Amino acid sequence: MIDLRSDTVTKPTPGMLDAMMNAEVGDDVFDSDPTVNFLQEKVAALFGMESALFCPSGTMTNQIAMRILTQPQDEVICDKHAHIFLYEGGGMMNNSMLSPKLVEGDRGRITASMVEASINPDDVHFPRTKLVGIENTMNKGGGSIYDLKELKAIREICKKNDLNLHLDGARLFNALVETGERPDQYGELFDTISICFSKGLGAPVGSVLVANKELIKHARRIRKVFGGGMRQAGYLAAACIYALDNHIDRLAEDHRKAKYLGEIAGGLSFVKNVYPVDTNIVILELVENRTETWLLETLEERNIQAVPFGKGLIRFVTHLDFTDDDLLKTEEVLSKIDS
Ligand SMILES: *Cc1c(COP(=O)(O)O)cnc(C)c1O
Repeated sequence: MIDLRSDTVTKPTPGMLDAMMNAEVGDDVFDSDPTVNFLQEKVAALFGMESALFCPSGTMTNQIAMRILTQPQDEVICDKHAHIFLYEGGGMMNNSMLSPKLVEGDRGRITASMVEASINPDDVHFPRTKLVGIENTMNKGGGSIYDLKELKAIREICKKNDLNLHLDGARLFNALVETGERPDQYGELFDTISICFSKGLGAPVGSVLVANKELIKHARRIRKVFGGGMRQAGYLAAACIYALDNHIDRLAEDHRKAKYLGEIAGGLSFVKNVYPVDTNIVILELVENRTETWLLETLEERNIQAVPFGKGLIRFVTHLDFTDDDLLKTEEVLSKIDS
């Protein structure tokens, strides 16, 4: 089976498993797991931020960030397809009693002027606008990348209006590998940054929240409340350290394969449109007389898996376990499906 459903489907490489098996561990709820501490310090340093917190999932890091940057009844500005709104089970409403102010960006990328226009006046009728959530790369936008200049402009608007700024950077390293920008250029701009190790970086579990010391102290308390305090988590953190050291540069390969897949798809009779392929996500729009179910079933019969991504849309995600040989097989299968 060639699994292109997500970049979360990868299994640890032998080198990663080795690092996990040899990890030195302790009880992280007592703050005494040396491998977790090393990972947290390493990520904080990478982003030029003070502190970091290891968490079980990207959803949890986002949920913790929203909790520590807001008060109940506050409002969060984000794109209508943002993971923090669309894919976290309504968590912001439940965990932090927030309401979203949805805006529609260009393939999920919102602008400074959209943010500015969305801020509520200081009037008891309106929820207090307190947080802006950015997602880079943007999953629903097909792995689209923000322009750093726009992010700086958003930061300025936030400063002027006393808004906090969170980055859902589940796939931030995919963006950095494409643009050549550095993590610390993002550390400068955001109050909190969430990054995932279980996506393109290929670890089995783990996300890290990065921020200043005070916010991370608060985040640690909220992580416990959410049930995310883990004990000998160093075994997992070791995989993340290994991923930072070995799996960042190779994301460029995933992007190359995704671009190739996008080019092939563009020439298929049953494809109306392919979203621009900026990183490792390929979104196809099918012609009117073809359904997602039809393509997914046809592919499944030929041992390829993808996911539906809205009406008429199919998503493929390239990753560590998708080889060049798999790419050729996928090309062969796709080119033999007639409409
Ligand atoms: C995957 C993902 C997350 C977090 O997902 P988990 O499965 O909870 O780790 C958050 N944001 C984006 C954009 C994602 O793609």
